[in-house]
Amino acid sequence: MGWWDHVQPAPKDPITSVTQAFLSDPTPLKLNLGVGAYRDDKGKPVTLECVRRAAEKISGCEIFLAGHYMYAQAVSDTNGVIKYFRYTVGTPVIPDTKSRYLDVHSQSRWSAYLPTVYVLCLYFTLESTKATTKSKFVQDCVKLAYGNDSSVVREDRFAGVPALSGTGACRLFAEFQRRFYPDSQMFLPMPTWSNHHDIWRDSQVCTRTYHYYDPGTKGLRFQALVNDIKMAYVAELFRGQQYTLPCDDDSFQFANAPDRSFFLLHPCAHNPTGVDPNYEQWKEISHIFKIKNHFPFFDMAYQGIASGDVERDATAIRIFLEDGHLLGCAQSFSKNMGLYEHRVGCVSIVSWDDKQATAIKSQLQRIVRAMYSSSPVHGPLLVSTILNDADLKALWEEEVKVMVDRLISMRITLRQTLEELNSSSSWEHITKQVGMFYFSGLSPEEVNHLQRDFHIYMTNDGRISMAGVTRSNVDYLASAIHEVTN
Ligand code: PLP
Repeated sequence: MGWWDHVQPAPKDPITSVTQAFLSDPTPLKLNLGVGAYRDDKGKPVTLECVRRAAEKISGCEIFLAGHYMYAQAVSDTNGVIKYFRYTVGTPVIPDTKSRYLDVHSQSRWSAYLPTVYVLCLYFTLESTKATTKSKFVQDCVKLAYGNDSSVVREDRFAGVPALSGTGACRLFAEFQRRFYPDSQMFLPMPTWSNHHDIWRDSQVCTRTYHYYDPGTKGLRFQALVNDIKMAYVAELFRGQQYTLPCDDDSFQFANAPDRSFFLLHPCAHNPTGVDPNYEQWKEISHIFKIKNHFPFFDMAYQGIASGDVERDATAIRIFLEDGHLLGCAQSFSKNMGLYEHRVGCVSIVSWDDKQATAIKSQLQRIVRAMYSSSPVHGPLLVSTILNDADLKALWEEEVKVMVDRLISMRITLRQTLEELNSSSSWEHITKQVGMFYFSGLSPEEVNHLQRDFHIYMTNDGRISMAGVTRSNVDYLASAIHEVTN
């Protein structure tokens, strides 16, 4: 028998398999509403202007070389590829005008000794920024999530490390959870981003689900959610069973949570449902968490993408902090900065004091070290550059708003168009839900019908990525949905 004969193909990923099916469809009419990546009204991916400008701005530093001060700047494109390199020699101040730079591409007289200088400068430029970038980046991330004036940040009561985007941040936390609470389980909302189940399962942490979405109202099933958090059933009965249940068979069973459980919460723009608790509901959830001594882990992959306002979208986390919770948070800059391929994220954990934070951080670093040693520096540098420059930050906030306004206007148009078709169903929920996704409630048969007859692709659970809806395809989508639902 060969070494790998027993390896069977892995089950298809529910999200990436939609893209595969879409790509193999030859029809030009086809529509991909599967993947949750922002597209503009022409259906094109977007590089934010703030990211472009940040990429231009980064990579400058002052060094002392062979008796001369030197200011070097390597300018890269958004992928970190050096586009050009310039430097000034003999001036002990950072040059402030372009004319004082020697641009290596236009100054051929420097080319004789250019390679050494180039390499040295580049080395110093990148090395000097690398060390500080990572801790600065974590600071910037937690300020964005917890608030600029948060006492957690002021008192250094957090431990955080850069992560490979939101997925990596969740994975690091899951690993941390298993190491320090080996018998614990993670309660996930039902439904949730499908990868949550896989991430915690791969980290050998059992997953359970709590009620979240109500297919009847296409809204929040708040009372059932509260009951699950409160553990309406007899705690001891459940406690006796909980660790012996096989993870895999049981993960979709709703279970009321014993005290001191881990819960994963989506603070805004819940994926896949687009349904978020309101302010009062978050207050109540936080209150019950306090009584039950649960640990909230926020997976914030969409800060800004629910309301168009990054501060407002952090409300849930701020409520929990105000109520004095310790919590964990995964952050991603895929959606709100369009840095999908850069894999930029952060995982942070709030602690009692700075001493505890130091211990937690060292443990997170240890996990990172054995998993992938360290994260790339370019993405965090882009993010920090934007968050620390008032103009770039303002530009970013504007650009987030533009993206969200487009998603909202597509929701409005889709709803109106469906209503104008005199459909028997109610389409109110299209505009009630928020964020990247419209959780349509279409059955798997209806989803199949859309794919087969209209070449419209979405995940089997009826989740429609609003990012794929544009002014030129919204009528087609509406009439197709009308057709399959009537
Ligand atoms: N968490 C949720 C809820 C998501 O929807 C996603 C992406 O779709 C992620 C995390 C991870 O995204 P990324 O790894 O691209 O940051």
